Amino acid sequence: MVAVELGQDDDLARAAVVAAAVLDPEIPVITLEDLGVFRGAVRRQGRVIVTLTPTYTGCPATAAIQFAVEAALLKAGLADARVETVLSPPWTTDDITEAGRAKLLAYGIAPPNQSTPHGLFAEDAVACPRCGATTTTKLSEFGSTACKALWRCDACREPFDYFKCHR
Ligand SMILES: [Zn+2]
Repeated sequence: MVAVELGQDDDLARAAVVAAAVLDPEIPVITLEDLGVFRGAVRRQGRVIVTLTPTYTGCPATAAIQFAVEAALLKAGLADARVETVLSPPWTTDDITEAGRAKLLAYGIAPPNQSTPHGLFAEDAVACPRCGATTTTKLSEFGSTACKALWRCDACREPFDYFKCHR
């Protein structure tokens, strides 16, 4: 859902590229585009506006993400660009791209299960990011951050973070 007005607007295109490539402060292997937080860049009344959608309401990473994007835009010479938060449509873990899910897995975090056509999540079957076994056990509802749960693989015995579903 990356909306960029194409054309001769180099600053706008650059703002979109720069913002999309900013790394998530909590999981610094995935970009805001991977996470589905980067929504687009538009020009309004002459000014470049980058739009982001926060993950969880009240997630402490939200302010850090906005700050990181502002810093990246400034560094790219786009001091006039502004960051705006868009709440609709709301972010869900289904917005994490395939590339993002692959990067989470490679980082040792089990990506969130995707919602089914019935709108339900199957959180009872989380695959181990290391060996792929589905014989896993939830140890704690909260892992290294509030948006992750701590699980353990019954096959390789290793604990791992699971990025919890959210919608
Ligand atoms: Zn395992």
